[in-house]
Amino acid sequence: MSATHRNMTDSATHFRATGTVYLVGAGPGDPELLTRKALRLLGEAETIVHDYLVAPEIMALANPAAEKIFVGKKGGGFCCPQSDIEGLLVRLAREGKSVVRLKGGDPFVFGRGGEEAEALVEAGVAFEIVPGVTSALAAAAYAGVPLTHRAHASAVVFLTGHEDPNKPDSEIHWEDYGKLGATLCLYMGMKNLETIARRLQAGGLTPTTPALVVQSATTGKHRQLLTTVEKVALESEHAGFGAPAIVVIGEVAALSEKLAWFKTARALTVAASASEWPPSP
Ligand code: SAH
Repeated sequence: MSATHRNMTDSATHFRATGTVYLVGAGPGDPELLTRKALRLLGEAETIVHDYLVAPEIMALANPAAEKIFVGKKGGGFCCPQSDIEGLLVRLAREGKSVVRLKGGDPFVFGRGGEEAEALVEAGVAFEIVPGVTSALAAAAYAGVPLTHRAHASAVVFLTGHEDPNKPDSEIHWEDYGKLGATLCLYMGMKNLETIARRLQAGGLTPTTPALVVQSATTGKHRQLLTTVEKVALESEHAGFGAPAIVVIGEVAALSEKLAWFKTARALTVAASASEWPPSP
């Protein structure tokens, strides 16, 4: 074989062999909330690169022969630097693997999926994005909170509370969100909840505005607590709430009293509301 011919063959083989990376949303936990596309790709994947927030019940649906690589992060603590994860995805694809990069919720909502997709583009690796049910939507649905309602709210905002709200160059001007009149859905907000709630009130949010904390939404450990924005930090701490949790702030949160339907959600909402709702002055 001539050198030229061999080079052409090598590059053709290389081209054929480069795998695709699928950035797939695993949803909030309940395996029935996976999309059919996510389920198919999990069944076909040769390699699955997954996070801490992906429920074991979902991993159990994956191709048993697939190589599973855990790159989880918990509470902002790093297991693997983001650049290593991106490098890993590129390397696996170049080895010709069909890779599922599985993320909790939706890959493009606070999941750094955007950064991973950018890295894949830069490396010339083919990719697809498979949306998932993001945890704010799932927490609200399972807790009985319509995020919009003709009588209460015509807009919804997804915010991250992970950023340190005391840092001078904070990108989130929480006071502004206190004036919006929209339903606020806070991701990763438990650690900074006290400061966030205080700043929202400083911006004009009424202290008695309903606030609902939903932990481990849609799973067997689902818990929820209905309170008010002025008490949410203290009460959720007393009740032992922690990550992963979504905090829904706005008039609509109070509808969970009436509309909670998920087994554990209903029991917990009723128990909390018996003593705490309506809030004492
Ligand atoms: N991409 C994910 C968000 C990742 S950020 C999504 O679309 O949902 C991680 C945060 O998501 C957690 O700190 C928590 O705020 C939220 N979260 C993820 N799963 C959750 C669940 N089952 N119940 C409540 N909150 C959850």
